[in-house]
Amino acid sequence: MIQVQDVNHTFLIGKKGKEKKVPVLKGLSFEVEQGEIVAIVGKSGSGKSTLLHTIAGFMSPEQGSITVNGQETADLNETERAQFRLNNFGFIFQNFQLMPGLTAFENIELPLKIKGVSTKKRKASVKQLLQKVGLEEVADHYPNELSGGQQQRVSIARALITNPPILFADEPTGSLDSETEQDILLLIQDLNQGLGVTFVIITHDEEVASIAHRKFKMHDGELVKGGAPYAI
Ligand code: ATP
Ligand code: MG
Repeated sequence: MIQVQDVNHTFLIGKKGKEKKVPVLKGLSFEVEQGEIVAIVGKSGSGKSTLLHTIAGFMSPEQGSITVNGQETADLNETERAQFRLNNFGFIFQNFQLMPGLTAFENIELPLKIKGVSTKKRKASVKQLLQKVGLEEVADHYPNELSGGQQQRVSIARALITNPPILFADEPTGSLDSETEQDILLLIQDLNQGLGVTFVIITHDEEVASIAHRKFKMHDGELVKGGAPYAI
């Protein structure tokens, strides 16, 4: 489903004229199969988010190849890439990134509005998903009227509403207490098994990594442990 082959990237860091070249991705290669939960773990600054941004096409790596569902992402122009992202990926963030002026229902509905889906179809899809993620009772709440775990459920539902085959999560439980973290991990496993959604999860947290079928460890821009099966 995702093939990453020999990807390299260097950032130029520092004052103009005195920039330093800092290699951040160093010859990374790995694959993600359809229906997998893959965890990418590693210390702060090891390049995890940069890797995710390159796979998602927010930035292009200097070297190497990334294909998603057979499409080489570097071959797409910017408009095509945005469309490709919309059709293939959903994103979940540590800090939820909900729209504060929209209710839970409206936040989840928003991607369908952008896609031009009819009101009737939108309402039906959102209702169904609200039930799946256990949010029916708080559909009319604004984000600041929701707990952290509820906000993350809204953001997961918003990521799922367009039925993307792949969800990326960057520290999805990073701002939740451990009990709420367990709830969210169960939901991710449920969506993986029930709907067949493929997950790529970036995390510091061994608890989160433990739900993955495979775990990749990054160290200083390199993969040090290449996807050995992880005991579940
Ligand atoms: P964390 O666990 O703290 O989120 P990470 O593994 O996600 O860390 P990245 O955000 O990928 O790490 O950063 C890797 C390295 O690249 C860091 O040294 C960082 O300073 C550098 N870096 C990240 N983004 C940029 C950028 N846009 N411009 C320059 N350097 C960057
Ligand atoms: Mg990061």
